[in-house]
Amino acid sequence: MIIDAHGYVGDSNIPRCSAALLGCSVDEVLRYADQAGIDRTVIMPNRYHGYREANRIIADAVRAHPDRFIGFGKVDPAQDRQWRDTLRIAVEDHGLVGLGEFDLPGPYDKDPDLHEILDRCADYRVPVMFHCENLGDAIQREIQFAEGHPDTIVILGHMGMGMQWAAHRTCIRAAQELDNLYLEMSTVLVQFTLKEAGEKVPDKLLFGSDTPCVNPKGELERLRAMQFDRATEQKVLSGNISRILARRERE
Ligand SMILES: [Zn+2]
Repeated sequence: MIIDAHGYVGDSNIPRCSAALLGCSVDEVLRYADQAGIDRTVIMPNRYHGYREANRIIADAVRAHPDRFIGFGKVDPAQDRQWRDTLRIAVEDHGLVGLGEFDLPGPYDKDPDLHEILDRCADYRVPVMFHCENLGDAIQREIQFAEGHPDTIVILGHMGMGMQWAAHRTCIRAAQELDNLYLEMSTVLVQFTLKEAGEKVPDKLLFGSDTPCVNPKGELERLRAMQFDRATEQKVLSGNISRILARRERE
């Protein structure tokens, strides 16, 4: 079983939003997953003005392909005064099983609302994914959010991104220290730190691709080139994310 823990469905409704965030149709995302032999993909809303509609697009995709998609929703307190209701609808009515991805710095950065979002995710037993890129003190802040909310599963999407090996190591150390902190590997290009993540936190690393922006087949081949032992590879490919998602099912 291979689960891609990081994907998007639904085009952005924000004018001039990066072209990389367009073209996220259900068919495209499934086509890339098929090429890579990926069984299921976590899909999240694209950048959106208000997330009620975006969450519904995710829920519809999951309903149409329940064996292929796992749906995460999103809320934005800065643009949506009714965000608590949007969150309740996403989880309780649409059955979405996580939230993401949240960018720091962002509109919710200095806002107590993000703390409340994390608390509600603890109550619902659903994980939260951050976009984890080495911008300012974003990574430290995300780690602090995880530290301050030990009952919420926090996933650092991209675990620092790209060639930022020092950032990758910061994330790995934090995942060693915090039980609730997980790392997702999409776009991590430094093989030494990717290998290190699998060796030091085999129960915390998640395979993900950032599909359709990044082709999942390439990400999967990069992971397989690490030649982790069979048990670790199985955890990274599906075991760890499955355990996170099972928390909600056990409720
Ligand atoms: Zn991201």
